[in-house]
Amino acid sequence: MILIRVPFMRPDGMALFPFVLVKARQPTARIIHHEQIHLRQQIEMGLLPFYVWYITEYLVRLAQYRNHDRAYRNICFEREAYHFDEAFGYLSTRRTWAFLGFLRQK
Ligand SMILES: [Zn+2]
Repeated sequence: MILIRVPFMRPDGMALFPFVLVKARQPTARIIHHEQIHLRQQIEMGLLPFYVWYITEYLVRLAQYRNHDRAYRNICFEREAYHFDEAFGYLSTRRTWAFLGFLRQK
């Protein structure tokens, strides 16, 4: 993971394998772990398929919820990352393609 600070970006963090972009000078452990979960998802899928799926699922969720925040939070990659971003040992026990278990609401 290569951490890069981007103070002007809108989200607190963004994963773009092998980089993690963060807004804050001192990002929280939770933000870093959240983005590390996304890096693992990107390694599994490949960066381009990850983003194609991410954007496609966002548009499906937007049609479903008609609300940007709800659409974003319900993308399976985000559901997994938010669910486990404070479970700091998660990546050592996580199964491959675990995000698929988050396609349906838990
Ligand atoms: Zn995220």
